[in-house]
Amino acid sequence: MKLDIELIKADITKIKADAIVNAANPSLLGGGGVDGAIHRAGGKQILEECIEIRNRQGKCKTGEAVITSAGNLPAKYVIHTVGPVWNGDEKKGSELLANCYKNSLKLAESMNVKIIAIPNISTGIYRFPKELAAEIAVREVGNFQSKIVEKVIFVCFDEENEEIYKRRLKERQ
Ligand code: ADP
Repeated sequence: MKLDIELIKADITKIKADAIVNAANPSLLGGGGVDGAIHRAGGKQILEECIEIRNRQGKCKTGEAVITSAGNLPAKYVIHTVGPVWNGDEKKGSELLANCYKNSLKLAESMNVKIIAIPNISTGIYRFPKELAAEIAVREVGNFQSKIVEKVIFVCFDEENEEIYKRRLKERQ
């Protein structure tokens, strides 16, 4: 089945979904932006699990995803995915960002997640063009079919992304 899509402008750390996605960096040890917000609000449990994952498998590669519990957050899980840093290579960057969405959704499915909230991966510190990032996000979520995952909540933090997503989702209908 196709997924339901919802769009909101919010702080993702406040969302009560089965899973929220973190735009992490390869170290998995926290950083700025949404990553910093998730670790701050979620507490040390998340970092401890990230460290365990690192000890087991090393850094997280761009486009891949790993999962931890959500510590003090209202969500159950945090799916950490590493978006591409924009370097002008549209083809490679798009492929890697699409992998973030695909791998996060697959991981969600494997953990029986029904509702997943996803931020605008790579569009902050990693400077990925917002229009292109939204196009990829909407396409990948639109293409994903699942018997388990039911709904994706796109969580925009800035007005620009909210407007872009609103338009793209409307165009799709
Ligand atoms: P990246 O390094 O992948 O670019 P950032 O965290 O810098 O990650 O930015 C990704 C997106 O997350 C940006 O659009 C930014 O506005 C947004 N963002 C930042 N803080 C939050 C938050 N608390 N909740 C949801 N989105 C957020």
